[in-house]
Amino acid sequence: HLVVNELRAKYGALDVLKGVSFSIEKGQVVALVGPSGSGKSTVLRTLVGLTPAAGGHVMIHEDKIDYASNGSLRRARDQIAIVFQQYNLFQNMRIIDNVTVAPTKIKKRPKAEVRADAERLLAMVGLADKHNAFPDQLSGGQQQRVAIARALALHPEILLLDEVTSALDPELVNEVLDSIRQLAKDGMTMVLVSHEMAFVREVADKVVFMDGGVVVEEGPPEQLFDNPQTVRAREFFGKIL
Ligand code: ATP
Ligand code: MG
Repeated sequence: HLVVNELRAKYGALDVLKGVSFSIEKGQVVALVGPSGSGKSTVLRTLVGLTPAAGGHVMIHEDKIDYASNGSLRRARDQIAIVFQQYNLFQNMRIIDNVTVAPTKIKKRPKAEVRADAERLLAMVGLADKHNAFPDQLSGGQQQRVAIARALALHPEILLLDEVTSALDPELVNEVLDSIRQLAKDGMTMVLVSHEMAFVREVADKVVFMDGGVVVEEGPPEQLFDNPQTVRAREFFGKIL
């Protein structure tokens, strides 16, 4: 269970998040949607401490994360993992090492256990036969699925996905969406930013529509897509659907 409460962020003098609040239940998928520049990526980046928060807090279960303190930041990073549009695999490492390096080196978990876990995760994203390949021997979609497996190897409570299919050729998008579908079925709690509206409608339990650094409207996908309650959401969804 994650509660984002009045999250604020600035870039210099620019107020980018002006008090963003939403919640997500365990096992749910929340989709953040909204126009370019509305603050979606900043919400995700702030949740993992990549962008400093200027105010607000986050509750993960009973744990209150105050981003001003280092201890809190570590707890946030222990519990929340993020995957970006640019998957940034370690090019000089084999796929299996890409997935196991953080759990063994940072989390100091036993090697054999991490290795078994990584094999399970790579199988889950359909890459059981690619353990020993290097990233440049894989397609973009395959590399993105490795990036997802790598994030899951940290055993996060919550997985954040920022436009993970946007950099992919169209024919590779579906294989990544399939992996996310599977995760949703398995009960992974996820917050995703995506422009794939058909996919959002299918997979999201809740859609949070942002504009100008605030949440304008939130609700089940059917509401946002078919019967938005605000003028701004009606304009936005009217244009893109
Ligand atoms: P998109 O759909 O284009 O990815 P977004 O909703 O993810 O957009 P953000 O990337 O969160 O939007 O950006 C929100 C605002 O913050 C924008 O006005 C953007 O120009 C600004 N911004 C983002 N990153 C920085 C940065 N590193 N420095 C300064 N301003 C930034
Ligand atoms: Mg973005």
